[in-house]
Amino acid sequence: MVKAIIPKDIDEALQFMEKTEVYVVAGGTDLMVKKKGWSGVAPYFDKPIIFIKYLNELKEIKLEKNILKIGAGCTFKDIVDSDKTSQYLKEVSLNIASPAIRNIATIGGNICNASPAADILPPLYAVRAEVVLESTDGKRNVPIEDFILGPRKINIKKGELLKEIIIPTIKCSKFYYKKIGTRKSIALSKLSFFGFANVESKKIEDIKLAFGAVGPTVVISKDIENSLKGIPIDEIQNIVKSIKEEYSKLLNPIDDQRSTAEYRRNIALNLLEDFLLNII
Ligand SMILES: Cc1cc2nc3c(=O)[nH]c(=O)nc-3n(C[C@H](O)[C@H](O)[C@H](O)COP(=O)(O)OP(=O)(O)OC[C@H]3O[C@@H](n4cnc5c(N)ncnc54)[C@H](O)[C@@H]3O)c2cc1C
Repeated sequence: MVKAIIPKDIDEALQFMEKTEVYVVAGGTDLMVKKKGWSGVAPYFDKPIIFIKYLNELKEIKLEKNILKIGAGCTFKDIVDSDKTSQYLKEVSLNIASPAIRNIATIGGNICNASPAADILPPLYAVRAEVVLESTDGKRNVPIEDFILGPRKINIKKGELLKEIIIPTIKCSKFYYKKIGTRKSIALSKLSFFGFANVESKKIEDIKLAFGAVGPTVVISKDIENSLKGIPIDEIQNIVKSIKEEYSKLLNPIDDQRSTAEYRRNIALNLLEDFLLNII
């Protein structure tokens, strides 16, 4: 019989995880699907399970100066309901699954599952978020792009829990988010595009762009973003073609049951163009 632990606090969880290899279960909406067997048969786990859903230390949302800290155990409903979270995080969260799933699915689970289609990843990459990992040895901060190593692969050590996500507040006058799925809701992304820009005195002061589900990990380019800074908005139309070509070299979409590589690439680049020309 597999052992299941419901720790009373994070210290108890980490002490248990120091000695024992476990499956961490937050909302279980990814893990239970991954572990499901035949219809009517309970999911099979070959290691003890630790339920982190009740850990208060993972449930906090704090705004400290210009930094938003979201506990890994916060659900997407928590993010939508909080008066501290930014509008873009609420909008992305509202596009995830159905209300029932959003009530239990956590931001930490979405990150640690490391699916190329995970909806919370593109905005976190765009704003250069960091994750905080904790074990009995202490804490370490890792930029999100160094935490996600590839599909279902994360930079986490034995005994570590994802504790919280650190999200810098950004100055943004233009925000754009599109998730392309088979239906308007309750559909995984075929692709997604996230952009924000700060425009002052008719020039791009800052810009952040991220593409989801068009490669093994989210695609961002600090070099291309830097090359766009300072460009007057009435000159954007002259450079759109070359910017699309630059990003096209970085996108590496696949054909799968949800879409084709060609569709993903073309639509992702069209969304980029729409943002640059019509929104900025
Ligand atoms: C019907 C349905 C629709 C869905 N629609 C979407 C969608 O539209 N967009 C989308 O992005 N996803 C979607 N998903 C996927 C899923 O709901 C999300 O990825 C969700 O955020 C996972 O969170 P969870 O708490 O349920 O994770 P869990 O299933 O509990 O865990 C997922 C993985 O992360 C690990 N983990 C969780 N928390 C931690 C932690 N704090 N520290 C270390 N490891 C941890 C677990 O061990 C596991 O490997 C859908 C799933 C279903 C079933």
